Amino acid sequence: METNGKCLCGAVELVVEIANTEIAACHCSMCRKWSGGPMLAIDSAEIKTISGESHISRFDSSEWAQRGFCSQCGTHLFYFLKPANHYHFPIGLFDTQADFNMTHQIFIDEKPGYYSFSNETQNMTGAEVFAHFQEQ
Ligand SMILES: [Zn+2]
Ligand SMILES: [Zn+2]
Repeated sequence: METNGKCLCGAVELVVEIANTEIAACHCSMCRKWSGGPMLAIDSAEIKTISGESHISRFDSSEWAQRGFCSQCGTHLFYFLKPANHYHFPIGLFDTQADFNMTHQIFIDEKPGYYSFSNETQNMTGAEVFAHFQEQ
C-alpha cells in the first residue's frame, strides 16, 4: 500500500510503500523525551520519494540511530536504524490512518506507570530488543 506523509508546515513530503499495517509503540526514555510520549511508529515502510530534503535535520541520538525532523516546524519524520539501514516512521505523519493495528510494544520495562495501552500486543523489554537485533 502506498501512502503519503508530510510535516506540519508542508516543507517535507514523503511517499512510502507500506508492507503491512502493524504499528509498534516504543516506551524507551529517549523516544519519550523526543516525542513527549511513547513513539508510535510503522517499521515496514520503504521510502519511494521524498521532497524538501534540505529541510530535514538529522540528529545522531546514539551510535546506531539517527532521528530526523523538519528544521522548519519540528515535526518528527523518522527514526533511522543505521546497522539495519532502515527507517521507522511516526504513524501520525501519514494521511492514511485507518486500518493500522498496534501489534508490538518495545522497551516495555521503561514505560512509566502513568499510562498503559489496552491493545493486545506482543511486548518486549529493552534487553529482549537488543538480543533480537544481535541475532539478526
Ligand atoms: Zn515542516
Ligand atoms: Zn524508543
